[in-house]
Amino acid sequence: MRELSSSEILELWERGVGLHPLDRGLAALRVADPHASDEVADWPVGRRNQALLALHAAWFGARLQGWTACPECGEKVEFEVDARQLAAAAEAEPPHDSVTVAEHAFRLPTSRDLAQVAVARDVESAPVALLRRCRISGPENPEWTDELLEAVGESLASADPLAETRLALNCPACRREWDDALDIGRFVWAEVEARARRILWEVHALASAYGWSESETLAVGAARRAIYLEMVHA
Ligand SMILES: [Zn+2]
Repeated sequence: MRELSSSEILELWERGVGLHPLDRGLAALRVADPHASDEVADWPVGRRNQALLALHAAWFGARLQGWTACPECGEKVEFEVDARQLAAAAEAEPPHDSVTVAEHAFRLPTSRDLAQVAVARDVESAPVALLRRCRISGPENPEWTDELLEAVGESLASADPLAETRLALNCPACRREWDDALDIGRFVWAEVEARARRILWEVHALASAYGWSESETLAVGAARRAIYLEMVHA
């Protein structure tokens, strides 16, 4: 995967600032691989996550470091995941294209499916709306019992293991154990944002050192200008 220039990082960040988190991940993937531009939204979620892991490893390094609060006592619990190891584990088990549960068959959900379900204001629940979109065959309006939803959910999870990565966490203070979903796109975006802010700081430092005006230093877009001014006047 190719390296990004400073201006490409800034462009990506500006484009992503106003986007839904799902679309920020896709925007980064489009920059990483312009040939895949039109398709990334239609990749199964696990394939997208695998590409995001590769992107994170190539642009920002393989370590995903984060923290979360213990649900029991509020203690800050840190975790670290190796993006390359996670991607390699999934490669050993390539995803299936579809799953069958009883008389129902579904294709793997994509980012586009998730986005459509996220913006839909239907009365039906999000899982049902998602499965309706991904239905290949079987009854059109089955009774969506909890058992059926659970069985389909489990089948999809094993057919596309990287679609959701669960982290096993435990609290050093109170010994509580729980698990949480790892949102790879969020990690990628946090790095894009941190890199963009660092670049802007460096530009600001240069401008101060040489007495340039901000407009001479930056060809400013609206979002970049707002953050730049916020930093200058902080
Ligand atoms: Zn705790």
